[in-house]
Amino acid sequence: MTKNCHNDYKMKFSMDDEYPDLTKHNNHMAKVLSKEIYGKLRSKSTPSGFTVDDVIQTGVDNPGHPFIMTVGCVAGDEESYEVFKELLDPIISDRHGGYKPTDKHKTDLNFENLKGGDDLDPNYVLSSRVRTGRSIKGFTLPPHNSRGERRAIQNLSIEALSSLEGEFKGKYYPLDGMTDAEQEQLIADHFLFDKPVSPLLTCAGMARDWPDARGIWHNDNKTFLVWVNEEDHLRVISMQKGGNMKEVFRRFCVGLQKIEEIFKKHNHGFMWNEHLGYILTCPSNLGTGLRGGVHVKLPKLSTHAKFEEILTRLRLQKRGTGGVDTASVGGVFDISNADRLGSSEVDQVQLVVDGVKLMVEMEKKLEKGESIDGMIPAQK
Ligand code: ADP
Ligand code: MG
Repeated sequence: MTKNCHNDYKMKFSMDDEYPDLTKHNNHMAKVLSKEIYGKLRSKSTPSGFTVDDVIQTGVDNPGHPFIMTVGCVAGDEESYEVFKELLDPIISDRHGGYKPTDKHKTDLNFENLKGGDDLDPNYVLSSRVRTGRSIKGFTLPPHNSRGERRAIQNLSIEALSSLEGEFKGKYYPLDGMTDAEQEQLIADHFLFDKPVSPLLTCAGMARDWPDARGIWHNDNKTFLVWVNEEDHLRVISMQKGGNMKEVFRRFCVGLQKIEEIFKKHNHGFMWNEHLGYILTCPSNLGTGLRGGVHVKLPKLSTHAKFEEILTRLRLQKRGTGGVDTASVGGVFDISNADRLGSSEVDQVQLVVDGVKLMVEMEKKLEKGESIDGMIPAQK
C-alpha cells in the first residue's frame, strides 16, 4: 500500500477522535458510514494516495441538499472504488436501486435503438440535451488532480478533439483565455458549466486552481460540446433547442464514439469495467454517466399533489434550469433520467422521451381544467 504521510499522522488519534459528526446529515454516505466501516478504511489509501477522508469530505461538509438526495462522496482515482468498496458498494446499491457488487452493467450507444423522440412538443419542451462524463485512464480524478496532471489532460484533449471533422469540427476555448463577459454569456446560454460556487464541488476539491486548465470545446454551431476538467476529465454534451431528442441522441452517440476512438489512438482509453461501466468522479454517475434531459414548461403539473410521485414512477428526476443547485423559475424544470447504472444509454433516454411526452400531455389536460387521475403511470 502506498504511504500517505498525512494519513499516517492521523493514526496517532483514535477512531473516535477522527470519526466525523454525521448526526445532522442526510446523504447516502452518512447513511452508510458507520464507525466500524470508517475504522476499517481509515488507514488505507489508493496508489495515488487518496484516503477515506478525501472520499467523504464533501458529504461531511454538506449535510443535505434542498432538492436532491446527494451521494456525499467522490472518487479520487480509478482504484478508489476498489480500495474503499466497503463504503462505496452500499452507497452504489442505495443510490442505484439495489445494484449489487456482482451485477454487470449494459452499454448501448446505438441511437437507432431509440423509439420515437423526434416529436416532443416544442411549445413545452424548450431544449433537449444528453451528456455523459468520461475519465481518461492513467490520470487521477478531479478531486485529486495536480496542476500538472490537469494541464496534461487539457493538452491531450485539445490534440484529440482538434482532429474531429464534419458536423463535429470545432475549437477549444480555455477559461483563462476568455473575458468575463464571454464566460457569463456561455453560462447564461447553458453551454458552459457554472463557476464552481456549489459547495458540493468545492468541498470535494474540484475547484482547486480554478480556472487553470479548464475550458470548453465546441463545434461551430454549439450543438456538440466537451467540457474539460470540471467534475470529470471530460463531459461530452449534445444539445439543441426544441424537442428533437432523437437527433440530440444521434449526435451524442456518433460524436462520443469518435472521441473514444481518438483517445484510444493516443493510448489513453477511458476508465471502464464490466461491473461499474464508465468510472466517474461521482458515484451517482457510474454506469452510463448519462443525463438526458429537457427544459420543459410544466407550471400546472409541477404544482399538482402527485408531481413527485409521477416523477418517481417514471424514473425521472427534476432540477432547476440553471443547473443542479438551482430552483425552478416560472414552472420550467430540467427533467432527466434518474438511473445511470444497470441499464443502457438507449434505455435511459427512452425513459426520458416517453416520460416527458406523458408529462406534457398531463400539463395540457390540466390547462383545460380536467383531471389527470386516470393518467398516473404505473411504477416503471
Ligand atoms: P450536468 O451536471 O448534468 O451537466 P447541471 O445541472 O450541472 O447538469 O447543469 C449544467 C448546465 O447545463 C446548466 O447551465 C444547465 O442549465 C444546462 N442544461 C442542463 N440540461 C439542459 C437542457 N435540457 N437544455 C438546456 N440546458 C441544459
Ligand atoms: Mg453538474
